[in-house]
Amino acid sequence: MKPFSYARPDDARAAVAAVGADPDAAFLAGGTNLLDHLKLGVATPSALVDVARVTSADIVEHGDGGLTIGAGALNADVAAHPAVRRHHPALAQALLAGASGQLRNMATTGGNLLQRTRCAYFADTTTPCTKRDLTQACSAREGWARYHAILGADASCIATHPSDMAVALVALDATVQVLGPDGSRRIPVAELHRLPDGDPTRDTVLAHGELVTAVDLPASTLAANSAYRKVRDRASYAFALVSVAAALEVRDGTVADVRLALGGVAHKPWRATRAEDALRGAPATDESFRAAARTELADAEPVETPLGGNGFKLDLVVGAVTETLRGLASTTARETS
Ligand SMILES: Cc1cc2nc3c(=O)[nH]c(=O)nc-3n(C[C@H](O)[C@H](O)[C@H](O)COP(=O)(O)OP(=O)(O)OC[C@H]3O[C@@H](n4cnc5c(N)ncnc54)[C@H](O)[C@@H]3O)c2cc1C
Ligand code: SF4
Repeated sequence: MKPFSYARPDDARAAVAAVGADPDAAFLAGGTNLLDHLKLGVATPSALVDVARVTSADIVEHGDGGLTIGAGALNADVAAHPAVRRHHPALAQALLAGASGQLRNMATTGGNLLQRTRCAYFADTTTPCTKRDLTQACSAREGWARYHAILGADASCIATHPSDMAVALVALDATVQVLGPDGSRRIPVAELHRLPDGDPTRDTVLAHGELVTAVDLPASTLAANSAYRKVRDRASYAFALVSVAAALEVRDGTVADVRLALGGVAHKPWRATRAEDALRGAPATDESFRAAARTELADAEPVETPLGGNGFKLDLVVGAVTETLRGLASTTARETS
């Protein structure tokens, strides 16, 4: 392992200054992703700046379900918080669908958002990977691509973003608060992560030294009728082949409003705006849900490789979207009857 220094600054500004001053420094939170990458040689920082205690662990309620979640809040605490469970059930469900109890007790909100892809070739420094090194080829293109992207990918990388929580935050219209060397800014979570666009080395739009300090969830009655569904190879301790986060309001059998995001399909959590547009004003039926999912997938490009591709994800998305929306539609129907 390459030697590195370790610092635990007193506040967020000092942490940002420390990382901003060294192009090879990195923030460290719970360490559940970054420490694996240090051991594997995937990450070789010169300095680790511990932010676990300089970002707030608080979850602040603003009324009507509006929340601010500190970047230091643990995944386990966010999932168990009564206001999250009541006003944003999709977020609690997404967190509980991820990793294990032990990991959720270490993993932070900021670190979860910034975790890196689980593409096996990315984690194996003996295989070429464009995301690790722009001069290398992508091994997944001719290899094991079962977990890889069907939307928004390009020749440089077909990896998917791994966070369950981020998919729920995208559907719930969340925003991140960011502190950087040049000041603070807010970014919708839907715009935080990038598509590869020829440079998959960059997962997000964050500049070096920018620290996520909190996540804001807007007040919303729609979010209270939300859900997260994760389809995976085994019942626990596995990343999503496909996941769906949705919030739905049905009036008189018609979709009045909807939010929909997909996980396991792209280099970023995928906000399904085409499907949302198709659904608003449509009958709240399985036929509409299936048709909307297919509309979202119109530009999908699954890959076929000698080790098996990921074309099966098309039907999986349609089924998972339909099941999730059907469940939410029946909740609305029960509440209004
Ligand atoms: C066996 C296993 C199974 C898992 N299964 C799942 C799963 O099913 N679903 C899922 O979603 N996740 C899963 N995870 C991933 C887990 O959720 C992440 O490892 C965790 O959320 C990362 O949080 P952390 O605080 O430990 O981040 P760290 O490992 O400390 O950091 C991760 C990255 O984020 C950066 N970072 C950390 N905090 C900040 C900040 N505030 N601002 C800017 N950058 C920051 C770090 O520099 C680093 O690059 C799994 C992990 C393991 C090991
Ligand atoms: S899909 Fe992306 S992360 Fe995986 S090998 Fe190809 S370039 Fe690397």
